Amino acid sequence: MTETKLNYIAGHWVAGDTDIENRNPSDLSDLIGHFAQASAAQLDEAIARAQEAQRIWAGYGLERRQSVLQAIGTELMARAEELGRLLSREEGKPLAEGKGEVFRAGQFFTYYAAECLRQLGETADSVRDGIEIDVRREPVGVVGIISPWNFPTATAAWKIAPALCYGNAVLWKPANLTPASAVALTEIIARQDIPEGLFSLVMGSGRTIGQRLVESPGINAVSFTGSVPVGRGIAAAAVQNFTKIQLEMGSKNALAVMEDADLDLAVTVALGGAFGGTGQKCTASSRLIVHHAIHDAFVERLVAGAQALQVGHALDPATQIGPVVSQTQLDENLDYVALGRSEGAELACGGTRLDRPTEGYFMAPGVFLNTTNAMRINREEMFAPLTAILKVGSYDEALATVNDTVFGLTSGIVTRDLARATHFRRNARTGVVTVNLPTAGTDYHVPFGGRGQSSYGPREQGKAADEFYTTVKTAYIAAGVPA
Ligand code: NDP
Repeated sequence: MTETKLNYIAGHWVAGDTDIENRNPSDLSDLIGHFAQASAAQLDEAIARAQEAQRIWAGYGLERRQSVLQAIGTELMARAEELGRLLSREEGKPLAEGKGEVFRAGQFFTYYAAECLRQLGETADSVRDGIEIDVRREPVGVVGIISPWNFPTATAAWKIAPALCYGNAVLWKPANLTPASAVALTEIIARQDIPEGLFSLVMGSGRTIGQRLVESPGINAVSFTGSVPVGRGIAAAAVQNFTKIQLEMGSKNALAVMEDADLDLAVTVALGGAFGGTGQKCTASSRLIVHHAIHDAFVERLVAGAQALQVGHALDPATQIGPVVSQTQLDENLDYVALGRSEGAELACGGTRLDRPTEGYFMAPGVFLNTTNAMRINREEMFAPLTAILKVGSYDEALATVNDTVFGLTSGIVTRDLARATHFRRNARTGVVTVNLPTAGTDYHVPFGGRGQSSYGPREQGKAADEFYTTVKTAYIAAGVPA
């Protein structure tokens, strides 16, 4: 029996009513640990204490806040190897990606450490005589953060860092599939010079503790990343209290490969975008829209490339594609393979469960051919190592197909034609557009988010994050009042 990892509530590590077990998806015999599940009473206490702590934190000089964020970021980067290994062990992404994610999480903290010192307001003269105006951003208050398992440390970091930077308190409910990474990040935050209760970790299931968090009138804002149905439920619950929300959800990202594309580049970009992170990315290229003139040559190389990818244990240095995260996710993926076939798509490779020396959720990357954009495999987010080829006759048809979706997170084009790339950049209806790059892979200092059912509310990351994590106050000062 391993020691149970605890929740961090109102400045103390506390046991829960129950525990969950966390196992390595690359090797189900590897028990990562047991993790406490917060009770409703613990959540309520954490919210009450966060309200007091937030007022203290917001009153600190900016340099004190900056030092805290800098220290968290520096430690994450210094421990990227160790914490990346833990992340890969529990989530299943290859070790290089796990380490890279922890390092990137550190960069979010150091970026927002610097942003602490760049919080400038505006001043104005009034339209009335003798009055001055001061416009400044104030913290929104207590922020509930609900994060997913696919980027357990980075997603949490890009929400927690700006929340703290702009003077808020945080209640963090991580995904129950990746609690070890959540505890590791919390241990770092808990050691900092912060008011007791400013930051709480409330592990528990989404349906119970997550739902209660969202419905609580003590929470001023909720930032969520996950599925569309849960996002929709959060929006409906939050509006009852007029809680501010920011939702990052699914997508059905398309990469357009034009007839003038560099074929090697196109295949590399498509493979990375479709299968990186086992396809479990909201930015994954799950539709490959290919000009007919290059279609056969592209498909031949893409399928060969997919078949050559090494699927295996996340901690094996030779592994390029780790396991999918859970039995539920694997079952859904295999259901999509069956669905695609029943819709008339041809599976050119992969799409099957794989046996490896350890028992895990391994799946061969799959490529569907002869698909239409009306098929469900091209309309629904699969979150799987699966991609579908759509053959088109022209650039205009490619662009129309890219935009024919209810989602709108990322899209990309591979072309050597500057005019076409520019047209695509201006006309693709997504929040992120890439040219000769995978649809996945973004920077931390610029806005991130989508359109349609992919996102709702203000953008995340970069300076744009202040829109969600602050509220604007406009002050009128009658400077000429006699003493
Ligand atoms: P969910 O949307 O269920 O989970 C995301 C987060 O929300 C988790 O922390 C989860 O907690 C929590 N949650 C679940 N239900 C509620 C609720 N009623 N109220 C508040 N919080 C809740 O995604 P899944 O992990 O189940 O994955 C299912 C699908 O969602 C994937 O196949 C993929 O399509 C999509 N997804 C998209 C992501 C993205 O990056 N856009 C990330 C993850 C998933 P817990 O898991 O502990 O129950």
